[in-house]
Amino acid sequence: MSIVFAEIVRTDKLFIGFCSLIKRPFLRTFTLQLVINMKRILILGSTGSIGINALNVIKQFPGKFQIEALTVNTRIDLLEPQIDEFKPRLVVVKDDKLALELKKKVKGKCEVLKGIEGLCEAAAECDYDILIGAMVGFAGLAPTVEAIKRGKRIALANKETLVVAGELVTSLCRKHDTELIPVDSEHSAIYQCLVGENINEVEKIILTASGGPFLNKTKSELSNVTVDEALNHPNWKMGNKITIDSASMMNKGLEVIEAHWLFGLPKERIKVLIHPQSIVHSMVQFVDGSIKAQMGIPDMKLPIQYALTYPERFKNNFERADLPKISSLTFFEPDFDKYECLKLAFNALEVGGTSPCIMNAANEVAVDKFLKRKIKFSHIPELIETALNKMENHKAPDLDAIFECDKETREFVTNLK
Ligand code: NDP
Ligand code: MG
Repeated sequence: MSIVFAEIVRTDKLFIGFCSLIKRPFLRTFTLQLVINMKRILILGSTGSIGINALNVIKQFPGKFQIEALTVNTRIDLLEPQIDEFKPRLVVVKDDKLALELKKKVKGKCEVLKGIEGLCEAAAECDYDILIGAMVGFAGLAPTVEAIKRGKRIALANKETLVVAGELVTSLCRKHDTELIPVDSEHSAIYQCLVGENINEVEKIILTASGGPFLNKTKSELSNVTVDEALNHPNWKMGNKITIDSASMMNKGLEVIEAHWLFGLPKERIKVLIHPQSIVHSMVQFVDGSIKAQMGIPDMKLPIQYALTYPERFKNNFERADLPKISSLTFFEPDFDKYECLKLAFNALEVGGTSPCIMNAANEVAVDKFLKRKIKFSHIPELIETALNKMENHKAPDLDAIFECDKETREFVTNLK
């Protein structure tokens, strides 16, 4: 009888509308969960580019997803309308003072936690099925690890988590039977190409890169580029840090390390090709020479949706790629001499230990200095290289050693002139 009832209401938008009238978030979620197999979501970083795109995806599928918790760093002005629209049970504001300010404003609409402890508490204790890791930088590591330990599905955009602690994170996933589904478009593409395939039959994976705003500049021209020029990405609209990483190609370097941990391939079997149109999101070449590619317009909503619905695909109304209009797709080798950050990342992966963590921390500080107009664009790889040469590399770090390494490297690079 209850199965018949569930079938009747499954597609009934009236039922979802009825549930939205239930004032208490817990009761509303419980009622929807009981009848519809609805997934509860925690978004780490809901006010960022990925976070907002994730909420836009979720809006497309009423009754399929319920927002359980949202977190931000400081932008409570963007969080407030999200609270009104998505009615989370809990929100976390990393900044202590702003968390208190928000608490007064929302007046009991939802619970408000603060600080990094609040982020970890949300990941460790909240009732959710999928965590969307959309925070930027090293800060995403601690709450993501809490979610991994609970065996929750992780839809991971925060590539830095895998760059700094790939070995620990992937072994924790194996231990807790946690699904780590990439959101990064290149890795989502490879994940999609690998469905039904045997990883042992992969010859190499090919990560595509747009080449960023400075594709047609020479190495010497890079020293005089401005912050505004670096933030003007030709194909993707993203947060500031990843946009600068794309201009320096550190983003592709981070993605090489991310791919290494996600797919278990050595650096020799991970290739980077420049593809200025950003239509082929990445490719897999198999041992028989066949190449599979995943294509689409450059829009993060698709890889986010895939990570939420995998192994299913849900019909959506997002824009489709118009191939005759695009007409030509081109590919060429990156210039490792010009894109020094890409070379540094391949080297850091080869050295291993805390080397990728040092590189990542140095890059985060250097990008911040560049955005604040304290250093030139061409100083970014210089600061990273100095940090890699001066900081001690630990061969098999545990989580505490990784946190220590990140902290020490930040101090070191912050004080570099
Ligand atoms: P944004 O800078 O746009 O957003 C970052 C989000 O994280 C914001 O909600 C921000 O809060 C929050 N946040 C930032 N720092 C902290 C902190 N220290 N503690 C708690 N919360 C914090 O970044 P993106 O959305 O562009 O990128 C997010 C991640 O996804 C990155 O790792 C990036 O590399 C990856 N990615 C992004 C893509 C994109 O298209 N944007 C594509 C592929 C991967 P607040 O708003 O309050 O500052
Ligand atoms: Mg990417």
